[in-house]
Amino acid sequence: MTTVFFLTARVCKVMMLCLVIGHTGLLCADTGILQRLAVPPLTVLSPDVDVYPRNHAIVQGQNGYLYVGNSEGVLIYDGENWQRIPMPNGKLVRSLAIGPDQRVYVGGYDGFGYVEPDVTGRMVYHSLADDFQQLREPGFADIWDLLVTDNAVYFKAVSDLFRYDPDTGEIELWQYEGRFGALLADKDEVYVQFRGQGIKRYQQGEFEPFQMLPQWHEQTYDLIRLADGHWLGNRRDGAWLEMRQGKVSVIDIPGLPPGNEFFDLSLVAPGVIAMANKDGAIYILEWHTRVVRRFEISNDVLLGVTGARNGGILALNDLGVLHIAWPSPWQSIDARRGLRGTVYDIENWAGQWFALGSAGAFSLSQGAGEPVFSRLNWSNHEAWDLLPLGPSKALFADSYRLHMVEHQQARTISHGALYPRILKPSRFSDKRVLIGTELGVAVWVDEADKADGYFSLDWDGLGTLVQSLVETAVGEIWLGTAHRGVVRLRLDEDYGRVVDIDYFDTSGGIEYGIDGEAKLAWIDENLIASTSAGLFIFNGNVFEPWQSGGEAILSGQILTMIQTTNDEVWAYSHNRLYRRFEQQWQQISMTGVGRGALSSHWLHKDLRVFGANSTLLFYQPNAPKVNRGGFEVQLNRVLRGKGESEQSMPLYIDTPQLVPANGRVVFEFALPSLHPPETTLYRARLSGFEDEFGAWGRATRISYSQLAPGEYRFDVQARDKAGNISAIEPFDITVPYPWYQTWQAKLIWTLLIISLLWLVIRYLVQYRTRALAQEKSRLKRMVAEHTRELADANRKLESMANVDGLTGIANRRRLDSYLQHCALTSQERGRPLSVLLIDVDHFKRFNDSHGHVKGDAVLRDVAMLLGECLRRSEDLLARYGGEEFTAILPGADTETALSVAQSMREHVQQSGTGVTVSIGLASAPGNQLINVQGLIDLADKALYQAKNDGRNRVVQSDDIRASAG
Ligand code: GH3
Ligand code: MG
Ligand code: MG
Repeated sequence: MTTVFFLTARVCKVMMLCLVIGHTGLLCADTGILQRLAVPPLTVLSPDVDVYPRNHAIVQGQNGYLYVGNSEGVLIYDGENWQRIPMPNGKLVRSLAIGPDQRVYVGGYDGFGYVEPDVTGRMVYHSLADDFQQLREPGFADIWDLLVTDNAVYFKAVSDLFRYDPDTGEIELWQYEGRFGALLADKDEVYVQFRGQGIKRYQQGEFEPFQMLPQWHEQTYDLIRLADGHWLGNRRDGAWLEMRQGKVSVIDIPGLPPGNEFFDLSLVAPGVIAMANKDGAIYILEWHTRVVRRFEISNDVLLGVTGARNGGILALNDLGVLHIAWPSPWQSIDARRGLRGTVYDIENWAGQWFALGSAGAFSLSQGAGEPVFSRLNWSNHEAWDLLPLGPSKALFADSYRLHMVEHQQARTISHGALYPRILKPSRFSDKRVLIGTELGVAVWVDEADKADGYFSLDWDGLGTLVQSLVETAVGEIWLGTAHRGVVRLRLDEDYGRVVDIDYFDTSGGIEYGIDGEAKLAWIDENLIASTSAGLFIFNGNVFEPWQSGGEAILSGQILTMIQTTNDEVWAYSHNRLYRRFEQQWQQISMTGVGRGALSSHWLHKDLRVFGANSTLLFYQPNAPKVNRGGFEVQLNRVLRGKGESEQSMPLYIDTPQLVPANGRVVFEFALPSLHPPETTLYRARLSGFEDEFGAWGRATRISYSQLAPGEYRFDVQARDKAGNISAIEPFDITVPYPWYQTWQAKLIWTLLIISLLWLVIRYLVQYRTRALAQEKSRLKRMVAEHTRELADANRKLESMANVDGLTGIANRRRLDSYLQHCALTSQERGRPLSVLLIDVDHFKRFNDSHGHVKGDAVLRDVAMLLGECLRRSEDLLARYGGEEFTAILPGADTETALSVAQSMREHVQQSGTGVTVSIGLASAPGNQLINVQGLIDLADKALYQAKNDGRNRVVQSDDIRASAG
């Protein structure tokens, strides 16, 4: 019998062949208990605002925001940050409901109203109750319940019921001293319980009786509408009420506690009601099947429950909001159920669950109340493996020893340095158990005679941890080791001695990572080795890469691989889980599953249990999948300015918002995620300033300073835990150009500059023109002047050419031309012409004795004296040169000329100049040709004669002839 149990148990564990035999108590354990205890992935969101931790209500906005009614106001969570909106009267908020748009209706103590973002995104509370506080002395106390329909909002206090019409702003009030019960909207109708009377229906301004049955007399806390005409209610006396087609009955739902244990009921999916229990558990009732699930999620009372808009359930306790990812293929049992440490092995033995790990061996046991994992006293050390041998016997490995467990007590059956890690029944012998140890391999043999069996082998020659062990043939054992790769041992037929050791290094076709670690598996009757370099299959001779169909996703990690009894093949590394389905590997998402490293497994039919840190994880792939994407990142505020002048800008109005030049703009955003905030990443871009998005990060507030004038567009994206990316509606801003840089100003500037230039040019042109004209006239004047001067000069020059400079009488040139002229006219007219040649006597001596200046003056005097002696206007006195003068006397015969000459001589002698003159005279008669030069020569000869004769005398050329003659 032992053998049979032994084998069967191992089948469950190693997932090889399942020999289905009758011992279902051992094989097919009570798996239901695990599911009952396990909870779906759970996130706790705790307000970090400084408020008293007392909460009353929870709702979630369409955009994913969470709103919590707290004793100090409304708490709002945008996925990153909490804020508090206090009530004007400082009192508590008891109830919340979401209206159309983003309006959140608030019921408080002596107050009701709504919270709504203003244009800048700031959350503002609008009170609706101001009038009624005065009306209702001493007030109406708590608004316990809120109901929002398409047309109106109903605020229910104990004895007051308000109806607010958002379209008209009108508020009606009903009072009922008998107190109100549940409120319910069904289709377009609104129902309210009048305690002690029944259900009434709102019709045209009044509540008319609807069902006035005795079942409705006792207070009903909540009413849920399940389907047309089907209601479910929980009554103050604990009864559950069902209303169906006008009939009301008290019903009993197995597994569901009395109705008065629940603070809140909520329809979270069609026909699915979530219920918040006072004991900290969420109950989920599937109405049509009446299946009740209970998830213990809180040590604290649950105060509220509602469906999360992107999947799952939101529950409320005093400390915060709990998000339950339900339905989820994953559920877990963790430390809240007493489980501790890393789980190395999961076992189901004799109908009981065991978890072995770094904190010891635990079993799930029914304590006083709910079952919990409690630590077994088998060992004080780490617990590594449990191998059932039968319903009451099992082998147990702790850090040092092998133990025999019987009747829940363990006794040591090995020495203290065995270090057993894995226990595996031999495939070929009922009695043998193969043991992988920290140092090698041991073989334990179950012998009927000996209560504790005996060790046929205790081999520590390997010196490294054996972490997997596969027996492929009798006496052939393959080891996957931590540092020495794959090792093959051959034992003798008694399993008493190691006959041969093969180390499979790279020459054996296998490759390792740097650590030399390998894990072995037996899949499809093949030996498979997993190393960080890949998967390898043993072909009977060497290893070769295993074409498993999973190369793309499986590589790079060391995998634990399992083939189950129903031929499922699974693989996992510490953080990834895979399943082979129709020869294709698929990764199974563990998004949202809180856990540590995967470290063990227990796979049986539809129950897959994986061990991790202080946690057992349950995978049920048939559970409905929930899309947990959904919410989009929200732009919460945009601020401009700095410090005191900081100012919120309107969000999403049509025109781009202005940000002053060189100013600052701040964007605040958040993704309303129900996962822990640190799992959300953001990246932003301000087009116009940067082209690309920045890197993904955790910043939820980005500021830009010193923006240059221009157009900008802000985008932000968020990536949630599951990798879903969402984006905001882009936000446009304009940084205006300073007034002098606007295009209008530029135009004006341009025109101004052009006109200025034009003016300047015009002025310059005019100035230049005038100057030119002036210059022209000046030049003209100058030219005229010069012309005149030139004429004068020419005239002067001309006269100067004929005048002697010293004496002012005609010069030699004039003399010559005049003598020629006179010679001609004398000839023409037949008149005589006389010439006198006059020379100052001893003038050299005069100069020498009186000076040259005096000499010049005497010459001028002599010229004047001689001129005075001329009698006719035709007579010309000229300076002949030096101290010599010539007088031309046209028409004068010798006699006349002699007379003129004598008068000249005398005039000079008597003048007092101190000088005398000698004169030579030559005359030509008027009847013959006159040789001018000859005439002069004659006069010169006569002058010479006069000098020779003693000077101061007149000699005529005839005299010369005479004297000579
Ligand atoms: P003679 O009676 O023989 O004519 O003796 P002279 O000294 O007058 O004759 P000579 O030919 O030896 O000298 C002429 C002198 O007249 C020489 C020169 O000093 C003088 N003389 C000539 N022209 C000028 C003149 O323009 N001014 C002055 N002060 N002296 C002049
Ligand atoms: Mg002379
Ligand atoms: Mg002389």
